[in-house]
Amino acid sequence: MTWSTIAETSVMRLSPDKRKGMRTEFDYVVVGAGSAGCVLANRLSEDPTTTVALLESGGSDRKFEIKMPLGYPKLFKTEYDWNFTTGKQVGLHDRKLYWPRGRVLGGSSSLNGQIWMRGYRTDYDDWNVPGWSYDEVLPYFQRAEQRLDGSRDGTYGTTGPIYISDLRSPNPTTEAFLQACAELGWTRLEEIDGPDRDGFAPAAVTQRRGRRWSSADAYLRPALRRRNLTVLTNVSVTRVLVEGGRAVGVEYGDAHRVAVRKEIILCAGAIGSPQLLMFSGIGDPEDLNAGGIEVLHRLPGVGKNLQDHLASCVVVHCPLPVTLVAARSIHQLARFFLTRTGMLTSNLGEAMAFVRTGPDEPAPDVELLFAPAPFIDDGQTPPPGHGLTIGATVLRPESRGRIMLNGPELIIDPCYLSTETDVWRQVGALRLAMRVAATDALKSYVGKPMEPYRVADTDEELAEWIREHSQSAYHPVGTCKMGQEDYAVVDSSLRVRGVKGLRVADASVMPNIIRGHTHAPTVMIAEKAADLIKMGGRPRRPQC
Ligand SMILES: Cc1cc2nc3c(=O)[nH]c(=O)nc-3n(C[C@H](O)[C@H](O)[C@H](O)COP(=O)(O)OP(=O)(O)OC[C@H]3O[C@@H](n4cnc5c(N)ncnc54)[C@H](O)[C@@H]3O)c2cc1C
Repeated sequence: MTWSTIAETSVMRLSPDKRKGMRTEFDYVVVGAGSAGCVLANRLSEDPTTTVALLESGGSDRKFEIKMPLGYPKLFKTEYDWNFTTGKQVGLHDRKLYWPRGRVLGGSSSLNGQIWMRGYRTDYDDWNVPGWSYDEVLPYFQRAEQRLDGSRDGTYGTTGPIYISDLRSPNPTTEAFLQACAELGWTRLEEIDGPDRDGFAPAAVTQRRGRRWSSADAYLRPALRRRNLTVLTNVSVTRVLVEGGRAVGVEYGDAHRVAVRKEIILCAGAIGSPQLLMFSGIGDPEDLNAGGIEVLHRLPGVGKNLQDHLASCVVVHCPLPVTLVAARSIHQLARFFLTRTGMLTSNLGEAMAFVRTGPDEPAPDVELLFAPAPFIDDGQTPPPGHGLTIGATVLRPESRGRIMLNGPELIIDPCYLSTETDVWRQVGALRLAMRVAATDALKSYVGKPMEPYRVADTDEELAEWIREHSQSAYHPVGTCKMGQEDYAVVDSSLRVRGVKGLRVADASVMPNIIRGHTHAPTVMIAEKAADLIKMGGRPRRPQC
């Protein structure tokens, strides 16, 4: 455990003497400095009369592979990653899947694929939670956004702390992918979140001048000079302390405590937040008993409703030596350092298409994500040569899983492909990716299938391949569901039901996964949470 306060550019480690003199009671305690936690630390400390502590299990984000956009797969399974593994997945032939999650300032926004995408109107309207319709959350997206390179159709905000850019050096194969989508009759979009929502576009990325722009960059660094904000790194919170039905503090490490005067906000992510609630005795009594934890407050929905996107990838050899496989060269490194351009500024997922598999779908139900490189085994297997990947994802899967305890052990069970509908939709999605790979536009870049991808003919063969080789798209959500029904963990103001002074504000509160990527919605949730907290739960129009 290290107590540290971050100076503007570096983590300052305090001596035990200074530690003794540090404040141990705050108005607000935010747990987890990820996509959401950094937003709350900033917004709550805007009021100089309020004291805020931000507690993060990981350490500094001053790391080349974090700042350099293409570096993030190198962080997988390192100290910057929680390196979770799911339980055996029956729907995936008993395979256990790797789940990367950021354990560092910025959380998963420090090692994600940098795609900024809000999702669809119908996603939020379908949440069916008062105050969270698309029209009501839109101003919070816009408050966060600052579209660089011109907001082409006025979609994105232009003055917020999160920089959203075009890729500086898109790969030539990415334009070929976009032309392939056009060849199939799909629509080229100005912006993926723009008014026309079915179609394809290059990715808009959270980057500034060719570098990653995480939540820590956008929200935490600008707030660090504030004397009322204390950031503690390498502090793993073990439980929330509840007395008389009210959260009064948190405990970490060897029974160290931080007391809170007003509220604790859990921003530990879709795995960390329900886990902390359970460790604090808040959850389904059956689950708590299995973990040997005394039941303090019965809340059966904690850890349930787990959802994720599953990706099945068409991976092919590329006969031309133009893909990101060439990124590991002195030439590309020099380009990055000297001009902040070149292959190292790629986010990997350079373009995407959102398409409907049938006319009855209220919005696109499949995403095809294009990477100008082979992405095999979560990027952990070195590719045998140049290649391309088209990842196919069903955007609104039916399967629901859970997070639970088995003694001290955490079990993650997303229950992938646990419904027949999900299996055949995934087959349909993969067939679309195969159609794109077979277009004339991509012809000169597409060679033979690259192992373990293999072309299959029948739907049954494809389903079999999907079970053998699909991987997570890294979007777990839903484990502290927001809503009003029995299984809801938080109410529409993100307050933990039945416990005073405790909220959850991160990806875990989404009632249903959105059709898109989950960083932008998480930032939006945190922006709205800050307003709800400041207004004592009463909604108001956000100031953008
Ligand atoms: C490899 C990868 C690629 C992705 N690509 C994209 C993408 O391109 N676009 C997109 O929109 N989304 C992407 N995502 C998903 C997106 O990044 C996440 O949905 C989002 O960051 C979740 O935010 P969060 O605040 O809920 O959790 P996180 O950002 O994960 O933050 C949780 C924080 O809490 C800390 N924490 C946890 N437990 C404790 C504890 N007990 N005590 C103290 N601290 C604790 C963690 O260390 C972490 O810093 C990707 C995710 C990954 C992993």
